[in-house]
Amino acid sequence: MNNTSLITAYPQVKDLMDEKPIFWRNPDYGQPADLPFSKADIFDAVARWERFAPYLEKVFPETAAAHGVIESPLIRLDQLQDSWSEVTDQKLPGRLFLKADSQLPISGSIKSRGGIYEVLKFAEHVAMAKSDLVYQDNYQVLASEKYRNIFSSYGVIVASTGNLALSVGIAAASFGFKTTVYMSHDARQWKKDKLRNHGVTVKEFNTDFSNVITQARKDSLADPSIHFVDDEGSSDLFLGYAVAAVGLQKQLKEQHVKIDHEHPVVVYLPAGVGGSPSGVTFGLKTIVGPYIHAIFCEPVHVPSVTLGMMTKLNNKICVQDIGLDGLTAADGLAVSRPSRLAGKVMRTLLFGSVTFKDSEIYRFAAKLMDTHQITVEPSAAAGFTAITPLINNIPVFNNENTTHIVWATGGNMMPESERVANYNKGKVLL
Ligand SMILES: *Cc1c(COP(=O)(O)O)cnc(C)c1O
Repeated sequence: MNNTSLITAYPQVKDLMDEKPIFWRNPDYGQPADLPFSKADIFDAVARWERFAPYLEKVFPETAAAHGVIESPLIRLDQLQDSWSEVTDQKLPGRLFLKADSQLPISGSIKSRGGIYEVLKFAEHVAMAKSDLVYQDNYQVLASEKYRNIFSSYGVIVASTGNLALSVGIAAASFGFKTTVYMSHDARQWKKDKLRNHGVTVKEFNTDFSNVITQARKDSLADPSIHFVDDEGSSDLFLGYAVAAVGLQKQLKEQHVKIDHEHPVVVYLPAGVGGSPSGVTFGLKTIVGPYIHAIFCEPVHVPSVTLGMMTKLNNKICVQDIGLDGLTAADGLAVSRPSRLAGKVMRTLLFGSVTFKDSEIYRFAAKLMDTHQITVEPSAAAGFTAITPLINNIPVFNNENTTHIVWATGGNMMPESERVANYNKGKVLL
């Protein structure tokens, strides 16, 4: 299909081409679907995380307080909600929360869920195939010299805009896997430095993520001892993210959030390749049920998942195909082509999506800092930009009974200089 016929079939494609912020409502939401994953897959992943908790506790001291459980807090944002009209010119009824994956250990981002999980699964597979690990062992044994020697014959490769490299790189290097990360042009220097300090090989490329991952996949295929973490379609990443729903379900109960037809919950998730928001959404729909709704948030320059889902072309279309440059300050979201899984699995599970101008994420991030002293990286504030478009377009969410949860996807590892620079950028726009 050429662009003229795309616009005829899906008129909002024109707004995407014009870099206009949009709200897109998914016409297939709630339809019956044949999904490639089930609730049993989520609980298989939950059990694997539990088996590895003693290992994580031993190897990553920052997880010791939580006994090796990688989880983030759900934080009530009263003050930000009280001053909502200072940012958006209107009030926000209901309740506002932050799911602070920005505070997850090891990568300071949502990638600690998917990325680490995939490495754990590979390590378990190798340990069982090449030695005598059994499910009821204490997995701290995997930190021993014996297992390090076994793991050192295997490699792990990942391509990343930054945070996936941190989580996969640090986790894989901890086992002794030969670990190589392929970084796209937008990856931050401090992330490369941190990875090299962990003994990870960092390959730098001057191209965008979609090109870099193609190269990484090709290099991985050439060597059967290498496990490739495929951000464009990995089921392990997806299920690692989905586990988040099990933790959130408990946190919602602890915060006395009622969920039923009259009391909907809306979760706002930034989307890059679409893997993390899709995994989380699949988890939430499966674990929490029909009254929790997900909205994806993307920069107007890189609405890759929205474009793919809107046109039903999914990963067969990229933002350059409609004349966009794919450039954004939200580096975690600078992905021009969606994953193979995202659009397919989300077809009936995603409520809709919103696109935003980069200036908006700086404003919200600065306001979050002013009101709650919480730092997030620019990408991670994307969820805030979607609330006003949603409640204005879908009035049933514009009331006291709705709970809004902004998924803060990253930020805790940012160096001080970057924190300050980002804050100042947002502060002048408030
Ligand atoms: C990776 C990332 C996202 C988006 O996740 P995808 O799986 O690429 O869609 C959002 N925010 C941050 C901070 C990230 O690192």
